[in-house]
Amino acid sequence: RRAALPDPPAPTEETWARPVRPDPTDPARAVETAGDAGEIMLYYQPQIAIATGEVVGVEALLRWRHPTRGMVDPEELIRVAEQSAVMRLLTRRVVDDVVEQLAKWTAAGLDLRAAVNVSVRDLHTGEIAEQIADRLPRYGVAPQRLQLEITEGALMADPRRVLTTITRLHGVGVGIALDDFGTGYSSLQHLRRLPLSEVKVDRSFVLGMAEDTDDAAIVRSTIELGKALGLRVVAEGVEDERTWRMLHAAGCDVAQGWFYARPMPAEELVAWLARYRPLRPLGGPDEAH
Ligand code: C2E
Ligand code: MG
Ligand code: MG
Ligand code: MG
Repeated sequence: RRAALPDPPAPTEETWARPVRPDPTDPARAVETAGDAGEIMLYYQPQIAIATGEVVGVEALLRWRHPTRGMVDPEELIRVAEQSAVMRLLTRRVVDDVVEQLAKWTAAGLDLRAAVNVSVRDLHTGEIAEQIADRLPRYGVAPQRLQLEITEGALMADPRRVLTTITRLHGVGVGIALDDFGTGYSSLQHLRRLPLSEVKVDRSFVLGMAEDTDDAAIVRSTIELGKALGLRVVAEGVEDERTWRMLHAAGCDVAQGWFYARPMPAEELVAWLARYRPLRPLGGPDEAH
């Protein structure tokens, strides 16, 4: 147990800089300004071990609470940020926040892993690996507690440089997940070549699996493939009990979705965890939620 957290790392040139020329018509500038204004924050969505009902981790997801537009679609936020250098700034902040959050959770006795999504640009240089290798020991966080989720699209942009960064991160001991599996390109190549610890079945297949036999077949085959390769398999987009039961029957390790919980701010997560009671996988009518 840690009594106090260490001082945050000294600011570098990479921390939020004030926009030089604020331009309201430039979406990337708007994102940068929103970051300065504290409108961009992280939500966390629980990930549950299907067999035991235990909460094993969380995925950190960016949210932009716009003063007039309300909650901005995260995909839009990421798309805009990725078109400029702002994504790098966002990712640096996300990594810092999540590592700090992990230190707090661990100090509070919560045994959680946290996953961070990374973009194409983040993997083109070794910067993110340097940052993580620096922050983890600084905050006393075990590397196994951190996981990076990469998408197949991100891998396609510059496979060689991306592979170098991923290999470095793997060397640090950070887990690597292949996100949105089945929606990108050369998936099987990536499964074979990358030092992965996890594969995430894309929600587009999971959402429909209770009704659509093709979706169900794709999910089951992906689970089988992932298991055969020694990977942890996570299903995202689990919205109902039927899907959860099917995933359990198919041997999926971890589930994430609205059936359990929506993404929420860190303060809410602590309260949610305190209330949470595992569903027994093969429970009868007395099954508690
Ligand atoms: P993702 O990494 O595949 O994240 C899972 C998405 O599924 C999240 O969408 C989550 O809110 C949503 N989801 C979870 N459970 C359910 C469910 O039961 N039903 C449905 N319909 N959806 C569910 P979200 O939060 O809108 O994020 C969208 C995408 O934006 C993420 O997809 C990720 O690719 C990207 N993203 C979010 N935060 C970051 C970030 O910090 N960095 C980067 N590079 N990308 C991020
Ligand atoms: Mg993800
Ligand atoms: Mg995904
Ligand atoms: Mg996605």
